[in-house]
Amino acid sequence: MLRSQRESAEAEKDHMERVIGIDLGTTNSCVAILEQQTPTVVPNRGGYKTTPSIVAVTEAGKRLVGHIAKRQAITNAENTVYAAKRLIGRKWDSPQVKNALMTTSYNIVEGPHDDVRIELRNKTYSIPEISSMILQEMKMVAEEYLSEPVTKAVITVPAYFNDNQRQATKDAGAIAGLDVIRIINEPTAAALAYGFGKNVDATVAVFDLGGGTFDISILEIGGQGVFKVIATTGDTFLGGEDFDARIIDWLVDGFRAEHGIDLREDRMALQRLRDAAEKAKCELSAVHEAEINLPFIISAASNEALHLQASLTRAKLEELTEDLIERCIEISKQALEDAQLGIEEIEDVILVGGMTRMPAIQRAVQDFFRRAPNRSVHPDEVVAMGAAIQGAALIEDKREMLLLDVTPHALGIMTFGSHFEELIPMNTTVPTSMSKTFTTSRDNQTAVKIIVMQGDSKNAEDNELLGEFILTGLRRAAKGQVEIEVTFEINTDGIVSVDARDLETGQAQSIQVTASSGLTPDEVRRMASDASEFMLERKADDAYESAKQRAETLIASIDGMMAEVERSVGGADFGRDAVEKGRRALDAARAAVQSRDAEAILEQVQRLERTERMFRGVVGGT
Ligand code: AMP
Repeated sequence: MLRSQRESAEAEKDHMERVIGIDLGTTNSCVAILEQQTPTVVPNRGGYKTTPSIVAVTEAGKRLVGHIAKRQAITNAENTVYAAKRLIGRKWDSPQVKNALMTTSYNIVEGPHDDVRIELRNKTYSIPEISSMILQEMKMVAEEYLSEPVTKAVITVPAYFNDNQRQATKDAGAIAGLDVIRIINEPTAAALAYGFGKNVDATVAVFDLGGGTFDISILEIGGQGVFKVIATTGDTFLGGEDFDARIIDWLVDGFRAEHGIDLREDRMALQRLRDAAEKAKCELSAVHEAEINLPFIISAASNEALHLQASLTRAKLEELTEDLIERCIEISKQALEDAQLGIEEIEDVILVGGMTRMPAIQRAVQDFFRRAPNRSVHPDEVVAMGAAIQGAALIEDKREMLLLDVTPHALGIMTFGSHFEELIPMNTTVPTSMSKTFTTSRDNQTAVKIIVMQGDSKNAEDNELLGEFILTGLRRAAKGQVEIEVTFEINTDGIVSVDARDLETGQAQSIQVTASSGLTPDEVRRMASDASEFMLERKADDAYESAKQRAETLIASIDGMMAEVERSVGGADFGRDAVEKGRRALDAARAAVQSRDAEAILEQVQRLERTERMFRGVVGGT
């Protein structure tokens, strides 16, 4: 059969290296690829399209990721990390970390660069390392599906992530052995998947409420495949976990009133409460009342086991979380103001994130936007699909698709009196750059310190410190005589860089904005090498396990036939010989399994297969 030109082009594309799209979520992660121009979510080994963003280390030192980690979270609460995304790129003394210190069941400790680390069984991990374990898992899911190695990825982040959080996410990718060719914003990715191949021409809002973050973006989608973000805003500490926390508070308060015991003091009880709260919340999206039953939740002083039993109605849940929903709407209002658009100008509202299944949220969105939200996209999968679409467009250099995103925060510097001088305003289309000329303020001044910040407050201290640098080696001259042009740039990943140039001599200074928190390049390299070593060990373990399983199945089958083979042909020489050969094959295979050497086992598997065929011939023939 002749292939059309288009089919040949498709086949060629299929041979090009694939880029995977990863939605690295607070609660769940998802990986997708573009297959024959269709974004496809890749299921994990268990057949699920999303994988819990949970990492654990067992007592035996084994690392677990995803569903398997989630399943053991209650009994291993101290060594099970969930919602690490809430901590990525955060500073030790930030309010978000203080909040996490009070509410998490695992140990958060201070890192060497004013950053945050997590302690699991006496080993300390950086947050990008924890996230890299999830990324490695997603990479492996895609590799198993495609039966080829994958190295390139587009990873999504909440639109509201600042530079530190984006850098840390990129570090996580590097540690996982991924070349992160682009970081894109989650709502933008969702809009890409929504408009892909549909010739949409509309102004839309993407309302994204996930496990940990809330984002809203307003986009113009043009018929020519142009996706232009007009405004984006959000809150990186507003998400499903806050809804769960309200239910937990309610349960803890009720229990305290009844028994005088604070369940928060018991890590295992707290983990069980967290699970039960989330489960009840999800149930209440479908039914009006959910039962919460936690037998033997804790022991009283008299050693009597106490149970927790409660019934939560949908109305009560809505009352407990009313202010959280209101906050989402307030932020949506702000986004419209930033976009300078009226509500009537929004032609469609796309819901993203598991939390948008909650009826009260759908109602609030519908009331605010005065239209029923769009139901054509899958809230858990659409972000990864958008990332895969962008990934494919980047390597295929597709010019018919253009993504114009914006920076969610203003970029500026701290000036005298802790004032924030804005250089690049929020909602500026990226990539973008801006130059500013600095002059010396003293005679013979040879250095100038510049403090780079990101945020939306006039008061520098309220904003996020990205880093500081000192311009050194300036020419000695009278004050005001040396002019240095400093260029601040935000690239398409939303990541900031700075360059400086002496305007008179033209001499350029390359400046590294040293992130005040986060990892050094050396640390990233070391962690990446640890991670790749771990992956090699894991692959060897997987190979051993699958060879062992195959060998054990064959051993059991041959063992089961042995008596009958002996009975039917053991009287003849050739029969005794066959039985003897079979026994030797079994012994050798058992020894190989003991040796834990996958290759040696596979060699024996071939011998076992021959023996099994021979035995089946005998048994089948009697
Ligand atoms: P995501 O980060 O998009 O995976 O969203 C996860 C959040 O959505 C978690 O807080 C879940 O508890 C929540 N979620 C998932 N399904 C439902 C549901 N049916 N009703 C309410 N919340 C849900």
